[in-house]
Amino acid sequence: MSTRTTIESRIARLSRSDPETGCWVWIGSKDKDGYGKVNARLSDGTKVYLAHRMTYMYFVGGIPPDKEVDHKCKNTSCINPNHLRLLTHRENVEAGDYKTHHRNAVKTDCIHGHALTAENTRIQRHKNTVMRHCKICARERKRKDMAPQIDPRQSGLEFA
Ligand SMILES: [Zn+2]
Ligand SMILES: [Zn+2]
Repeated sequence: MSTRTTIESRIARLSRSDPETGCWVWIGSKDKDGYGKVNARLSDGTKVYLAHRMTYMYFVGGIPPDKEVDHKCKNTSCINPNHLRLLTHRENVEAGDYKTHHRNAVKTDCIHGHALTAENTRIQRHKNTVMRHCKICARERKRKDMAPQIDPRQSGLEFA
């Protein structure tokens, strides 16, 4: 199994999205502070032991040694990469209030109003940004593209 399949299936199996907060709440084992525990290895060989660091590195990118991964949502068991950001330890301590969280609150719906839950969101890395794509919209676009205007088999027309 590839790294991609392993990590994504683990995320799907071990987290549940909270429709109110958009958090992907880790339901696997956790440490005393509520951080999800994993034993994972990324494709470049980096070992990770915390679930939110795993999703950050996997979806967003590397974590410089002087930075910590902070939860914008203040939910330590959340692994949604859209709720995570890099801070220095000092900034992390200073950010310990909720104003920061609300200012940076992420969108939880797509432009068509579909909830961007873990199950309905396809995440793509684009440079330093995580792009979220609504799967329902993608499916509907695909269906429209593929649906023929007239189905010759049902139109009663004969084709030579
Ligand atoms: Zn969260
Ligand atoms: Zn949508």
